[in-house]
Order: sequence, then structure tokens, then C-alpha cells
Amino acid sequence: MEQETRQQFNYEEFDEVLQELKQNSYDKVGLQGPDGIKPQLIDYADQLRDNGIEPVIIGASTFGACGIADEKAERMGADALVHVGHTRFLHPERADMDDLSVYYLPYREDRDLMGVLKDHHDDIEEEELGLVGVTQYMDRAEQAREFLEGQGHEVVDGTTGLRTTEKGQVLGCDAGAAHNISHKVEAFVFLGSGEFHPSQVSETGKKVYVVDPYERKIWVEPPNSLDDETQAEHARVLKYKDREKWGIITSSKKGQNYMQAVGIAKDKLEEHGKDVYVFVEDRIFEADYKGYGIDIYVNCACPRMTKDFQDLAFVSPKALEVLDEV
Ligand code: SF4
Repeated sequence: MEQETRQQFNYEEFDEVLQELKQNSYDKVGLQGPDGIKPQLIDYADQLRDNGIEPVIIGASTFGACGIADEKAERMGADALVHVGHTRFLHPERADMDDLSVYYLPYREDRDLMGVLKDHHDDIEEEELGLVGVTQYMDRAEQAREFLEGQGHEVVDGTTGLRTTEKGQVLGCDAGAAHNISHKVEAFVFLGSGEFHPSQVSETGKKVYVVDPYERKIWVEPPNSLDDETQAEHARVLKYKDREKWGIITSSKKGQNYMQAVGIAKDKLEEHGKDVYVFVEDRIFEADYKGYGIDIYVNCACPRMTKDFQDLAFVSPKALEVLDEV
């Protein structure tokens, strides 16, 4: 089992971080990561301890480096934090993300992505392609590009986005890597799995070929228009436009705490005569916002968190523009 685990994870990158932690003579270091790699966090904790560094593990899993837990680690007396699984997250309002020394150890998933691309590349019809994906597979972006070019495609690499640091990297809240090049391509090739991220890329209005190493095939996310999403949000605002009480939610997670957006949304709502209540919580659960007698909330936290909520209306700050038109 130990052997299998070590083959799946890139211990070289961890060793580099470990050497830096030792050079800095840190006594205690925090460890944080997403669900699915918890056994690795225990393994890393063992290695820290073997090297004379006391580990402290952040219990709750994290969905992204937006939820950097440096303050929790510091409260436990740690000198640094190793954030496993994600690249550095840039705050869209340029707020400082690190109070403590933070080492990012992006997790690269050791699945046969290139095998899937080679076996199924005939499914890709378009010639000019944009290449994007999630960080778990972006270490193979160069190989994928070379392979696709060898098959006669013209490949445009994705850029970095507003919140991302790796070229071509897409987050659920930031498909800027794709949007920035969508005018140059006919379709996108996405390296990764699940519908969450490909659906963001499809909002460029282009077809997305998902090279999925879990499904072991290339499947297609059809083009979607950002305007559909905007129209749906406008409809929600208009439905509740006569309500007196409006809520604004943000998160206490560093990368999801958008105070400029809170201020802008509050001003806009007050301009329209609303009573505005601002809420903050670490994670956003719909049940927490029931019972206040408020039917509509403006989401100034992770834009994805509220997308599937059913009972209450959640809208982005941008959707409030429609209030000026009624
Ligand atoms: S989509 Fe949400 S959870 Fe994911 S990185 Fe963006 S803010 Fe964080």
C-alpha cells in the first residue's frame, strides 16, 4: 500500500519544500489539502515529524487555495503552512493572501491522460484549438500540445486568469485562461474531469472537448453562453425587485472575502431603497440563510457555491445592474 501511494504522488516536490522548511529551521508547520488526498497529508505529517518538524493538520478539507488556512496554522503556533493540491490563488480584489509563509504543492494526478488523448483524438473535429485544464493535469499541457500539433491542429495555449498563476489553468470561479483566447480558437481541449470546470469554459460560447482520464474517453461539453447565465440572474433580481429586505453574503475565507464587492452591492441596493443585511460565514450553506425573512441574497463569496441552491435566490453583484433599468 505504501509503495502504491508513493507511486501516485510526486514526492520530489514535497522533498524540495521539506528542504526549504528545514533550511528555515521551522519547528512547527501546518498542512492543508482537499478531500481525496487526506492519506497523503498523514504521510507528509510523518515525514515532517521524521525531520524534526511538528506537523499540525487543518481538519476541514479545502476546495481551493482561496481557502488558505494560514491564520488557523498560526493560531496553532506554526511558522509556515504547506498547502497541498492547488497553486497560489490571486485575490481578485488584490487583497493580501499570505500572513504566514505558505508553500504551495500542487497535486498532479497520475492518471493516463495522454493515453486517453491518443486513443480518442479523432473525436476532435476543429482545427484551431485552445488548450486549458485543471492544475492536476497541466504538467502534461506541453505534451498534449505537441501531440495535437502533430495531428495537424493549431493549438493556442491558455493564458493565466484573474485568480490563477499557471498558464491555461481554469478554476470554477475563473475561466479567464479560456476567455482570453476564445476569439482565436474554434473549440477548446480541456485536460481534466467532472462537469464543474468544463461548464465554465463552455461559457466562452465554444465547444469543449474534455480529455477525461477517469471516464477514459473524450466527451463534449456543448457551447454555452454567458448571456444565458446573466439573463437567468436578471430574472431572479426582477422577481424580487419589490422586496424590502436583501441580504449580502461573503465568506471569511481569505480568497472568498470580497469586501469591495460587498460595498458596491450594498451601495446599489441602498440606492434603490432596500434594507441591506450583510452576512459572513466560512462555508456557504443554503440552510444557514433560511429563517431571516430574506428571499434574495447577493453572493460576494465563491461564485460557484450558491449555483445549485434551490429555495432561496442568490445572484452575483453584477446582476444588480438590472435594477437601474426598471
Ligand atoms: S471556485 Fe470557489 S472554491 Fe474554487 S477556487 Fe474559486 S473561489 Fe475557491
